Amino acid sequence: MPVTEPVTAYIGLGSNLEHPEDQLRSARKAIAALAGLRELSISSLYRSAPMGPSDQPDYVNAVMAVSTTLEPLQLLDALQAIEQAQGRVRSGERWGPRTLDLDLLLYGEQNIDLPRLNVPHPGLAQREFVLYPLAEIAPPQLNVPGHGALGDLLKQCPDRGIRVIGRV
Ligand code: ATP
Ligand code: CA
Ligand code: CA
Ligand code: CA
Repeated sequence: MPVTEPVTAYIGLGSNLEHPEDQLRSARKAIAALAGLRELSISSLYRSAPMGPSDQPDYVNAVMAVSTTLEPLQLLDALQAIEQAQGRVRSGERWGPRTLDLDLLLYGEQNIDLPRLNVPHPGLAQREFVLYPLAEIAPPQLNVPGHGALGDLLKQCPDRGIRVIGRV
């Protein structure tokens, strides 16, 4: 029997509707409860101004580290099911408001380029609401494939006023 080695993956959690902090707390529990996955750590909750359309509430974000034997697409399916269960409506507006957004940021050191799944997540290297919480739970030398060390990305990332607002 082949034994699948667990991979460390990082998941970005975001919400700006229907009590965002509660949405992230529920999502964290749902992710940790998945078979074939266990939680390693989770960052603080961070608040920041919206990216894209500015006529929407501020976002609350966090990043979770997990150890998983799920394949990348299995993990994406599971994350999308949790988004649906928490009332995610796809309005068609890019970066519009949502109850829950779960992005697969990193899956070990793999590069994945599929129609449904790009890893590392394309926005990871530039977004403060990803890099700040990620740097709280991952070492500065963490390799982001195609981009280099997390610590260097963080130094290049402008601070647009993100702040910690609490714990998940
Ligand atoms: P962004 O991806 O720029 O953060 P978004 O999160 O608002 O924007 P969504 O509408 O949530 O985008 O997702 C659009 C599609 O992106 C999803 O249906 C999914 O198949 C695809 N996708 C590609 N790569 C990833 C990834 N790493 N994590 C999550 N979804 C991904
Ligand atoms: Ca589990
Ligand atoms: Ca996103
Ligand atoms: Ca998404």
